[in-house]
Amino acid sequence: MHIDIFTLFPQMFDGPLTESILKRAQEHELLSVARHDIRNWTTDKHRTADDTPYGGGGGMIMKPQPILDAVEAVLGDQLGKVPVILTTPQGQVFNQRMAKELASYERLAFICGRYEGIDERVRDLVVTHEISIGDFVLTGGELPVMVMIDAIARHLPGVLGEEGAADDDSHATGLLEHPYYTRPPVFRGLAVPPELLTGSHRVIERWRRDQAIRRTWARRPDLLLTADLTDAEKYLLADLALAWLDARNLA
Ligand code: SAM
Repeated sequence: MHIDIFTLFPQMFDGPLTESILKRAQEHELLSVARHDIRNWTTDKHRTADDTPYGGGGGMIMKPQPILDAVEAVLGDQLGKVPVILTTPQGQVFNQRMAKELASYERLAFICGRYEGIDERVRDLVVTHEISIGDFVLTGGELPVMVMIDAIARHLPGVLGEEGAADDDSHATGLLEHPYYTRPPVFRGLAVPPELLTGSHRVIERWRRDQAIRRTWARRPDLLLTADLTDAEKYLLADLALAWLDARNLA
């Protein structure tokens, strides 16, 4: 996959792109990332990329011309074929399903907003997706792009080493993932659950699934509305719900 990032702060990406899994993905040519400094497409000697908003109000707005010239020059005849994603707190909230879907493209482009945001005509002319990483406002789109690239790259074949590893993660199955333990078997008086020490794949899988359902019920019951559950798992859920009602004297 190739990713083009349009930003006023290309160096912000140095850390996340040059360490660990994202670094290895690029070394193995599973991922390439090009950072494009929007200021390179400005036309005045001060390299001005922002201007005051029509109608007044505080803050500055990113001018449409440098962004559009940058996107058109870099994408060329790929414009219209490649998803052009605008980071904005007004967009659809990013999730695991979107990460997986975006990982299926060969090329993606991200536009990082700054200041009060970008001139609306950039949206009208080139943006295909508007994505938020949550209901809060950051100072720029660079951190959201780093978050999204990290989540998307996990779904690219070979990036995590073990094929399909991302398929077990929290949210991938519609449930939060089960707890994990490593050595030693007892640490500060807390023992690893005995099921994990049985060596039986069947016992371990059943324990993990049971824990995933309990954990999702406790922390994110909203996810259970769409989770794919067996009949036995639905009974477990009914028991958990009854216990919850009981504890509140509602049953
Ligand atoms: N005035 C804008 C509004 O209320 O919608 C917010 C602008 S914000 C200060 C500057 C830039 O940061 C945005 O253009 C966007 O690119 C990025 N940004 C801020 N919060 C974000 C979020 N939750 N998700 C994605 N991008 C975000």
